[in-house]
Amino acid sequence: PVAQKIAELDASKVVVNLTQNLKTVPPVEDLVFGQTTSDHMVMVSYNPITGWGTPEIKPYGPISLDPSCSVFQYSTSVFEGMKAYVGPDGTPRLFRPEMNMARMKRSVARIALPAFDTAELLKLIKKLVAIEARWIPNVKGHSLYLRPTIIGTRPSIGVHASDHAILYVICCPTGPYFRTGPKPVSLYAVGEQVRSWPGGTGEFKLSLNYAPTFYPAQLAAEKGYDQCLWLLGQDQHVTEAGAMNFFAVVKRDDGDLDVMTPPLDGTILPGLTRASVIALVSAHPNDILLPHLPPAQKLHVHERLITMADLFAWSDAGTLAEIFLVGTAAVVAAVGRVGFEARELEAPRHEGGLGPVAKALFDRLTDIQEGKFEFQGWCVPI
Ligand code: PMP
Repeated sequence: PVAQKIAELDASKVVVNLTQNLKTVPPVEDLVFGQTTSDHMVMVSYNPITGWGTPEIKPYGPISLDPSCSVFQYSTSVFEGMKAYVGPDGTPRLFRPEMNMARMKRSVARIALPAFDTAELLKLIKKLVAIEARWIPNVKGHSLYLRPTIIGTRPSIGVHASDHAILYVICCPTGPYFRTGPKPVSLYAVGEQVRSWPGGTGEFKLSLNYAPTFYPAQLAAEKGYDQCLWLLGQDQHVTEAGAMNFFAVVKRDDGDLDVMTPPLDGTILPGLTRASVIALVSAHPNDILLPHLPPAQKLHVHERLITMADLFAWSDAGTLAEIFLVGTAAVVAAVGRVGFEARELEAPRHEGGLGPVAKALFDRLTDIQEGKFEFQGWCVPI
């Protein structure tokens, strides 16, 4: 017998099986992040004999799995978080989706799940979004959150890479992260439990990075803080906060501003929003953040270590201008205060919640996402 070549993921083979029972789309005011799912999902399986099977777009529903399978025992699971937006013209759009695909490819490789052509996955995602377009609320700040996921389904408790997998994509309509306008978040700086470490998996979007953050997050909540600020090392440097990347803005002697974020040293998730903020700040003053910022004030971006001692020193010197977090969910969120050991760092408060740099970035990013401002082809119409 001739050895059969195992199949690659092929979006052109997709079989679409639409539901007979369309759900009622809830009013946008009732949307709670992650609680409402749309009508359909993408699903495709992999096995080591035939490779990637026929992709399906089918009614949203449960998956039946063997209790011994790899994802339950060894957390072989990778996910992505991305959003589809509609602008005033009604066209659904994705924001830099190829960056999510590239990150997913790296994450999948890190835990030895079966590889697949992420360009084909992106075609399937676009097809799903086109079918689910009625789920994208055409209201500013609203979007359809997409959750591409791959799980290891090898049915064996043997400690082994999973040579079976299911790749799927589900959709959740979402409203703005802060319903009542941008409210500064409070952070509790944690160094005892760490989210990531050199040589670890912090730079990949693996489900197993998230479970260990829930207990410290509970402790922080009991102390009255919204999220954890994840520290690392003897020098107590900042990595990220909650599930968002961290930025600090510091005034310089010459009146310009330094915009700082920790470097991608393997312990930090390389956020799309982080990369986009760096690009926009680097483009200033070339009109990209204008008219949101005074033209005379230059921004200088730095990827550098930021320790707790640095933050307190800038605060004491009166040069700390803003602290903010960035990520797909909230886009940009201001930080109001940081609890650390027995001390409390108060970040400067700003009218309306966001400081001028955070506000300029938030406005520019959301304009790009909603197709109101073109920048380097970041916004991909479907
Ligand atoms: N850090 C962590 C740990 C995250 O889970 C996320 C969300 N993906 C981010 C940062 C922000 O990344 P992005 O801008 O790609 O959403």
